[in-house]
Amino acid sequence: MKKDKGKGRSRGLSRRAFLGSMALAGGTAVLGHPKKAGGSENFTGYPGSYGMLTDLSLCVGCRSCEKACNEANDLPEPETPFTDSSVFDEERRTTPGVYTVVNRYETPGGKVVYRKIQCNHCMEPACASACPIHAYTKTPEGPVHYNEDLCFGCRYCMIACPFYVPTYDYESALEPKVEKCIMCLGRIRDGLKPACAAACPMGAVTFGRRDDLLKLARQRILRSPDTYVDHIYGEKEAGGLNWLYLSPVPFEQVGFPKDVPMQPPISYAKGFLAAVPSVFVIWPAFFGMLYAAVRHRENHETEKEGAGSEEVRK
Ligand code: SF4
Ligand code: SF4
Ligand code: SF4
Repeated sequence: MKKDKGKGRSRGLSRRAFLGSMALAGGTAVLGHPKKAGGSENFTGYPGSYGMLTDLSLCVGCRSCEKACNEANDLPEPETPFTDSSVFDEERRTTPGVYTVVNRYETPGGKVVYRKIQCNHCMEPACASACPIHAYTKTPEGPVHYNEDLCFGCRYCMIACPFYVPTYDYESALEPKVEKCIMCLGRIRDGLKPACAAACPMGAVTFGRRDDLLKLARQRILRSPDTYVDHIYGEKEAGGLNWLYLSPVPFEQVGFPKDVPMQPPISYAKGFLAAVPSVFVIWPAFFGMLYAAVRHRENHETEKEGAGSEEVRK
């Protein structure tokens, strides 16, 4: 049974109620507001930001990273134990309460390759661009953070993400929310490595500055050209990712999406944005602002009520 990690905050105007309104403006997943990650051609990411490098040639599918992620983020226990390799019989995706999974691939060349998946922390994240209420933030440290207190469940981020990462917690009756890896932002700010990188016994997941990780990845390719395909996935894909990959086999053989453009996805919407009727662009933002205003008023009133009850107790 999934734990409800909600903190019991009052949300008088339910996000579900708002979904009905938002549906009127449907079909505009990437049209929310191109402001934050506006497909700027010269954006090279935050200088000195952190990232991760997953080296698929080193991963042995032990799932220690999944376990560490589960513990570090206080996620519910999995239905299948972390030691049970039967999970590899099917390709898995991340789900609410599961921020990362490892899959096994048998490639046409006969190699068995394991691949860990999670949010890729895009340098210009489509999820953040699509969110009408700025629930996502691209942090200067590198992780793409998500604020569940702001989210009202429109799920535009899920449609916008080229890697199909954000998942929606339908089972949490009181506070359904989007869930995804946040690159252990709290641990990074505390001077620690993300939990999965710290737990990997093979050194298959390396944490560091993105620039250094790119150099490290190039060195590995140069030193062992027979081990790796000559490509660092995430250096350019989707405008660049803070989570990079090396692989011993072509990336499409291990489930990486083939159709991810080299430009940030939002940059492709810019021309379209100029052409669509404004209602498709303005409505999501309008409903977002309205929701925020009502929430703000409710919070204010709740605070006043709280202050009043303090006085009564005196
Ligand atoms: S992988 Fe998807 S969810 Fe993660 S930052 Fe990129 S667009 Fe957002
Ligand atoms: S970075 Fe943190 S949240 Fe993301 S997969 Fe690793 S342990 Fe989980
Ligand atoms: S802990 Fe490391 S070796 Fe084990 S499955 Fe995760 S990435 Fe692979």
